[in-house]
Amino acid sequence: MKKRKNKKNYYTFGNFILIIVLIVLCVIIFKPFNSSTNEEKEDIKKKEKILTEEEKKLQTLNNIDKKLDFFKMENLDRYIAYKEKHNDLDDETIVVYVNIGLDQDFYTNVKDAPNKDTNKVITNKFYFLGSNYVPSDMVVINSKYTIGERKMQKDAANAFEEMVKDALEEGYTVKAASTYRSYTYQEGLYNKYKANDGEEKADTYSARPGYSEHQTGLAVDVSNGKTSYTDFGNTKEFNWMKENAYKYGFILRYTKETEFITGYMNEPWHYRYVGKDIANYIHNHPMTYEEYFVRFLDK
Ligand SMILES: [Zn+2]
Repeated sequence: MKKRKNKKNYYTFGNFILIIVLIVLCVIIFKPFNSSTNEEKEDIKKKEKILTEEEKKLQTLNNIDKKLDFFKMENLDRYIAYKEKHNDLDDETIVVYVNIGLDQDFYTNVKDAPNKDTNKVITNKFYFLGSNYVPSDMVVINSKYTIGERKMQKDAANAFEEMVKDALEEGYTVKAASTYRSYTYQEGLYNKYKANDGEEKADTYSARPGYSEHQTGLAVDVSNGKTSYTDFGNTKEFNWMKENAYKYGFILRYTKETEFITGYMNEPWHYRYVGKDIANYIHNHPMTYEEYFVRFLDK
């Protein structure tokens, strides 16, 4: 009995040593795996945290990114900041306005104008044409429809002639008082206005050189040939233009209601050729060209 008991003790002690050795081995073998797994876990945790913050921001915008194909993830923080300042606006409007650049001052963070030499070009207080840009395909408009010699890009010139010919047949005189203006001409004009009225005032009614829609060869200031073009808003011809210009591919570009978007005061005389499709869309869904651009052309 005594012997067997000793033997049992011996085996128990042996097992105990074996277990200790196995534990030590386990610790040695698995330690590196354990520590690497921990690092990975940390990484995953970090990534999850970043994702969650972005998701939180998207939730603040009611996940509008899922609904709009012109939502720009790189503008996410700007959307959030704009929403904080303008909590009366819906999320879609916030995305549109920030994409236009309205969360920044005019003439800041300016970019090269896209779609040059097409009717889809945009130039405004965030997009410049530059000092060297001259439209490639300009023609002189029939002098019957102009005050002085006036040039526009070919398609715009043809559409303008067709429009004012039809207007004349209905008894309305619409003439081009100013169309294409070169960079240098605009520079002289703007500097004169700035000297007279100061920069802040001049900016409300005149484009800085390199930023004028007139430099695209697609814009036209009209008059009825009897009063100054600045009185055009009070003429019967203005009403005709309001009802008909879009049929020929022209849009009224600057209105009182949209001054905060375009940066320009009401200009009933200033029309921009965008082509019939875009003009028709804007006629049916009233919006500025800036809004149209970010919704459909800036992707
Ligand atoms: Zn103009």
